[in-house]
Amino acid sequence: MIKKGKTSQNNCSFCGRGKDDVMILISGMDAQICESCTEKAAEMVHHHLGTPVGGGTAETGNYEGDGGYSTKYRSKVKPVQPAEMKAFLDKYVIGQDDAKRILSVAVYNHYKRLQYIESGVQNEVEIEKSNVLFVGQTGTGKTLMAKTIAKQLNVPFTIVDATVFTEAGYVGEDVESILARLLQVCDYDVEAAERGIVYIDEIDKIARKQDNPSITRDVSGEGVQQGMLKMLEGAEVLVPPQGGRKHPEQKMLKVNTQNILFICGGAFDGIEKNIARRVNTQVIGYNKQQTEKIDKENLLQYVSHQDVKSFGLIPELVGRLPVIVHLDPLDTETLREILTKPQNALLKQYQQLFTMEGIQLELTEDAVEFIAEKALEYKLGARGLRSLCEAILTDAMFDVRAEGAKDNKFIVDRAYSEEKLSKSRISKLKAA
Ligand code: ADP
Repeated sequence: MIKKGKTSQNNCSFCGRGKDDVMILISGMDAQICESCTEKAAEMVHHHLGTPVGGGTAETGNYEGDGGYSTKYRSKVKPVQPAEMKAFLDKYVIGQDDAKRILSVAVYNHYKRLQYIESGVQNEVEIEKSNVLFVGQTGTGKTLMAKTIAKQLNVPFTIVDATVFTEAGYVGEDVESILARLLQVCDYDVEAAERGIVYIDEIDKIARKQDNPSITRDVSGEGVQQGMLKMLEGAEVLVPPQGGRKHPEQKMLKVNTQNILFICGGAFDGIEKNIARRVNTQVIGYNKQQTEKIDKENLLQYVSHQDVKSFGLIPELVGRLPVIVHLDPLDTETLREILTKPQNALLKQYQQLFTMEGIQLELTEDAVEFIAEKALEYKLGARGLRSLCEAILTDAMFDVRAEGAKDNKFIVDRAYSEEKLSKSRISKLKAA
């Protein structure tokens, strides 16, 4: 996977990082390689030859596996009742009730369909796949939901970013490498991978540019969408086991995608305009009478396949994502809960770190409120909570006693939070 446009002698030809960003850059005839790509290449060689890997990890490129190399996956997946699945999601994901319900049903149906196929008693009714499309602002829990579902079902799961793929024949990765990543997660157990879940992030970024649908070759947009069709509908796909580009001598693995659940997600920035147009209103200057029943603060809840199509996803792709799920924007209340409530809430994680120093960390309610307000103000979504907490707690994590811990207790209130934040770089972020 040699990266586009990074052919200079000062860059790694594989990951594209510049010589200042790497420790070693080894030069070959007409390519360079850095230390981390060398390690990854070594892992691939070891894996291919079946020799032990010297302590490396299974990670490559943008791949994020939840579980690493393993053969621990069940050979059969039992459908989990939607209510049970929603209850599990509730432990990790705050709010997003609609999304949780729709997703739970879609996943339940997906694995029921699989059971139906495996039972061999199929009659003339053919149950179709129910791939899912998430539409919601960044940091609202799309990835978290997909990850949580996979955790509960104990199936292989991988996250890929749609933007790294390009049309076959161009520099970049082939869409088939999505499946290579899934295979890597389950130690090349094809059967397990065929029951897995793939989350394709940033699907909105490969939307067709509205103004030039076909005049120029659209390397990163429509062509990629076309490439994904076969995979989403359920076909046998030949996968280069190490991902990246296919090449003639490479051995291929055959993966049937019929039972893989694909969840695509994207922020679809600006789709509100399409929705507003469709629901016969306008974002600005609407007619009150006409739109009385429409919640203008959250137009995303009305998103339909038609809006996604007018945003630039090709109809064939939209057709293969029959379940559409919207995620609500996060408000201060939700952000507060995200900070404190989930099973592994950020606050609980910091408290654990302080406990290990023998200190009990406490955030007052108004400190929590302040952090939530700032996350909203900076438009950082839930992701911003972490940067804010880091900014506020770094000094205390450096030397908690110097920051005023007493009796093995350290209390962070609003004034302390405001002061620490005002001194940090993050405070330079202006609300957009
Ligand atoms: P995205 O919608 O961009 O995929 P993520 O799911 O990656 O967002 O969320 C980013 C971070 O914010 C994650 O670490 C997650 O823990 C947290 N987060 C976002 N939304 C929620 C939510 N509704 N409940 C709990 N945590 C959330």
